[in-house]
Amino acid sequence: MATGRKFNFSAGPATLPESVLAELREAVWSVDGTGIGLLEHSHRAEWFMRVAADTEAAVRAAFGAGEDWSVTFMQGGASLHFNLLPLNFLPLDAVADYPDTDVWSAKAIREGRALHEAGLCGRVAVPFDGQTSDYDHAPAQTELRCSPQAAYFHYCSNNTVRGTRFATAPRVDAPLFCDVSSEALSRPIDLARHSLIYATAQKNLGAAGLVLVLARRELLARARRDLPSMLSYAAFEKAQSMPNTPHTTGIWLLGRMVRWVLTEGGVAEMERRAAHRAGLLYAEIDRSGGFYHGLSRPDCRSHMNVSFRLPSAELDSHFAREAAAQGMVTLEGHREVGGIRASIYNAFPLAGVQALASFMREFAKSNG
Ligand SMILES: *Cc1c(COP(=O)(O)O)cnc(C)c1O
Repeated sequence: MATGRKFNFSAGPATLPESVLAELREAVWSVDGTGIGLLEHSHRAEWFMRVAADTEAAVRAAFGAGEDWSVTFMQGGASLHFNLLPLNFLPLDAVADYPDTDVWSAKAIREGRALHEAGLCGRVAVPFDGQTSDYDHAPAQTELRCSPQAAYFHYCSNNTVRGTRFATAPRVDAPLFCDVSSEALSRPIDLARHSLIYATAQKNLGAAGLVLVLARRELLARARRDLPSMLSYAAFEKAQSMPNTPHTTGIWLLGRMVRWVLTEGGVAEMERRAAHRAGLLYAEIDRSGGFYHGLSRPDCRSHMNVSFRLPSAELDSHFAREAAAQGMVTLEGHREVGGIRASIYNAFPLAGVQALASFMREFAKSNG
């Protein structure tokens, strides 16, 4: 752990690479020798135009997105897009499928239903209800009851709260939309199977507020046309992400994060590291004889969010407090679920995971 820094297991905003933080510190004062700080450059200035183009190029390279895909930088967090997706792509007389796999997919369903109630979009159907199994897994293909002729199928590939994930993208007839917020660039995603993917940036891609959206251009061409520009994906594409002042700092930081992934060895290397890190923590859960109870079924375990419970809520808080005293912080589970959650995104140092693994072993020995 570098001087003055803790191992921060926060689910988002989350740990960033130290090399990127060092660049950011410099850039705030004067970026690229311009004599102007990162937060102070006009978004219409040549310097920023270049940043936006470089960031887009890095995103295309890292995701393998060709020219049939649009890359836009939007705002409002993933949560705004829980509203924008049905507004843009769910006509009044249509239905969209949303498997319910955890807190975030459930929120997307609630938001879609609220818009439907208000007469602003079609209906939301739920082809899989994970609540009945306490969200301990992502559905297998055979568990999905899809609607015929759905306008689209929306899913969350990594479930940030309970820490489950889809092994592979579901096979459905409808255009596939994916919320990849908590695992962007941590494993390959097969774009050929998808029509739209989006990620809020504060997990693997930098700063809260920014949202990266990759969409097929032919999907945007079919989107609803009568929306105000700030609510329209097509308008953002047309204005090259700038119908208004974009999140300039977030776009710069996204560019640095994606370049960092590429220099470290790309998505394949991120995937290898993530499997190794997560494996160390799951091994402690598995060897604890039930002292640590994982929230995910083993075949669906997330490599980004490792969630578990101890035998009592008191022990959960005792665990989080003692870990914090040793420099391992923000281990408390999501407020709706409790327990412990270790979020270990791309930039999370292996040393921090090793420290937590040995802490888990010691804690189980003295409290089990
Ligand atoms: C964090 C998260 C969100 C919510 O993002 P906001 O930026 O707070 O709106 C949505 N979906 C997933 C999968 C997440 O991990």
